Amino acid sequence: MTANLLDYDLEGLVVFCERLGEKRFRATQLFRWIHQKGATQFDEMTDLAKSLREKLKTSACIRSPTIIAQHISSDGTIKWLFDVGAGDAVEAVFIPEEGRGTLCISSQAGCAVGCRFCSTGHQGFSRNLTSGEIVTQLWFAEHFLRKHLKVEERVISNVVMMGMGEPLQNYAALVQSLKVMLDDHAYGLSRRRVTVSTSGIVPMMDRLGMDCPVALAVSLHAPTDALRDDLVPLNRKYPIAELLDACKRYLAYAPRDFITFEYCMLDGVNDSPAQAMELAALVRPKAGEGAWCKFNLIPFNPFPASGLLRSPQAKVVAFAKILSDAGFVTTIRKTRGDDIDAACGQLAGDVKDRTDVVRRISKQRTIMLKPVNEPGMQRKEGVNGK
Ligand code: SAH
Ligand code: SF4
Repeated sequence: MTANLLDYDLEGLVVFCERLGEKRFRATQLFRWIHQKGATQFDEMTDLAKSLREKLKTSACIRSPTIIAQHISSDGTIKWLFDVGAGDAVEAVFIPEEGRGTLCISSQAGCAVGCRFCSTGHQGFSRNLTSGEIVTQLWFAEHFLRKHLKVEERVISNVVMMGMGEPLQNYAALVQSLKVMLDDHAYGLSRRRVTVSTSGIVPMMDRLGMDCPVALAVSLHAPTDALRDDLVPLNRKYPIAELLDACKRYLAYAPRDFITFEYCMLDGVNDSPAQAMELAALVRPKAGEGAWCKFNLIPFNPFPASGLLRSPQAKVVAFAKILSDAGFVTTIRKTRGDDIDAACGQLAGDVKDRTDVVRRISKQRTIMLKPVNEPGMQRKEGVNGK
């Protein structure tokens, strides 16, 4: 069987090249062709000797994933549904914003954590993605967008692991994929522009700090253990006090960073002014500690099986005001891609039932990419700046 070179990090490619009798620098050249230039054919790799290209043609390939669907929202957000075999599909979502382009990617097909407010959690766990399957989402989106926008330079400036799955429950593949994202021979993203979002797998947060201290977002959602136990079942294993300690330990590996606490606003569940005050008290810096965290309030994206409702905007704003008056930088996430089900927690829906996915997709409006010069999609100068 031919090896798909998208599955390899640089060290893996070095070993692969050595087996072909080739030197280390050849692996670096290959890696750059694949990730920086988006090459899919070995004949494009003009600085590789013809004999090597012939060897590669018989032993390797650069296989693009199968895309089941591509949707573009009226706000410029693009969602891709990737087929990962055996009836599983995962999603990646590109979110263009002023001065940056963010790609939200998946780490697992399904998720075992089972948060009450998350449609991926309601589907249950199917399998871990390989590191190659994680990186391929970025590879595909980056080179698709460059081609579409007719630009040579980088389009995706930020990556967030906020798609399907709990990244820290797929640790080895996650770290290998993060290393490719940060590698200067591949995407060269700075560690602060790559965010891992976790529901709070405490021991793995410690390991991530040591192995690859990218930006960390922690899904908190409740100021008390009683409520968090109910919303995020994993809290019974790693309760809030342990989680907060782990956040502070993480910052020792990520100097001058902040932990971002994500807080999904659920009407009548976790959105009262009293709960905002409890939350502020919970994370208030101790004497001698500087500011160490900020909040990102996420309007809940409802789905029927959850039995939960989105907090009214006025409650979200009041909640945010209490946190910011208490001294915490607080943002309210803008919902994006609502019309294509690309918003948080809506990724892929019932991916187990492919026919259902296809039916849902075909009900949505025709997918057309916007012309290059349409404002939502336009490349801004300076996006590449680290
Ligand atoms: N498993 C990780 C990362 C994926 S979920 C985690 O839980 O952090 C990414 C974010 O989307 C999390 O903050 C999660 O709480 C949020 N989310 C999940 N379902 C949601 C929904 N229905 N509406 C709004 N946010 C949701
Ligand atoms: Fe899993 Fe995150 Fe969804 Fe919870 S919110 S079920 S951890 S994907």
